[in-house]
Amino acid sequence: MERGVLHPLIHVALGTANILGLAEGDPRIRPGTAHFMNGGKCVYNCAYCTRARTSQAPGEYLCRVPWPAQDEDRAYEALAERQDEFSRICLQIVNSEGHIQEASKYVERMNDISSLPISVEMRTRKMEDVETLLEIGAEYVGLPLDVASREIYPDLRGGSMEGDLDFLFEASGLFEGRIGTHVIVGLGETEKEMVEVMEQIAEREMPIGLFAFTPCRGTRMEKSDPPSLSQYRNIQLAKYLITSQRVEGISFDNRGAISSFGPEGSELEAIPSEIFKTQGCEGCNRPYYNERPTGRPYNYPRDLTESEFQMELQETRK
Ligand code: SF4
Repeated sequence: MERGVLHPLIHVALGTANILGLAEGDPRIRPGTAHFMNGGKCVYNCAYCTRARTSQAPGEYLCRVPWPAQDEDRAYEALAERQDEFSRICLQIVNSEGHIQEASKYVERMNDISSLPISVEMRTRKMEDVETLLEIGAEYVGLPLDVASREIYPDLRGGSMEGDLDFLFEASGLFEGRIGTHVIVGLGETEKEMVEVMEQIAEREMPIGLFAFTPCRGTRMEKSDPPSLSQYRNIQLAKYLITSQRVEGISFDNRGAISSFGPEGSELEAIPSEIFKTQGCEGCNRPYYNERPTGRPYNYPRDLTESEFQMELQETRK
């Protein structure tokens, strides 16, 4: 690298950087997707996010994962050489200064050097941003909803849930099959609220990614508790029932917690173990994004064994 010349940087998730040879280490579970992110603080101030405006979290972290900054050209070279190791590229775009220009540049340059499909995850209420990214070669744009409760949405995320949902639905109508979203379980929503939001999204046949709330140092919610494993399993099972049009069996108690799922006995046996695996874009397994490498994961980044599946299914009855 030339001395004294500033080279643009791109953040690369640690597991991706390991595989690209940009950082030392050999991940125990290999990420199926190559993850990249732009730099800077976000203009938004989501209470749970390490990149939020007032977050004091170290600059290289997104959630609990370090994303070391790398020379951008070097990252592209490494990606071109080792793209066969991945099935997709995912660009996490923080709403920092010039983020749309950065995102557009990433999409164009990565399309030039690789044949992998590209997903972009970004908060926006501007349809032209979505259109631009899709036109220049992103396969898919994820418009995160994150918070599934109308009541806590303004405080945790800012703005209104209705407004963001309307925008999401409009985008999915305009760009059919190329828009999705994700929600975070355990931010303070009830299970009923989560089920109702997932139903609305599933009605539009949009993919729904699931994340578990992870309290991260330096964020407004650093002292809040993560969801219990059984709460998370409940939502994974509920999502499966919603997307397989069996939601009418789900009932709730007066606190909004799921009291029954409907399927019993042999019907439960027909539930696929995939429902406890990472859910998002095709090929994405996000190892350790929400969990430590030890212990039971919220999202399994690999196939479950039969005994793991039975154990996780039991969690939904707790
Ligand atoms: S919009 Fe996204 S990147 Fe920005 S603070 Fe919220 S969660 Fe973080």
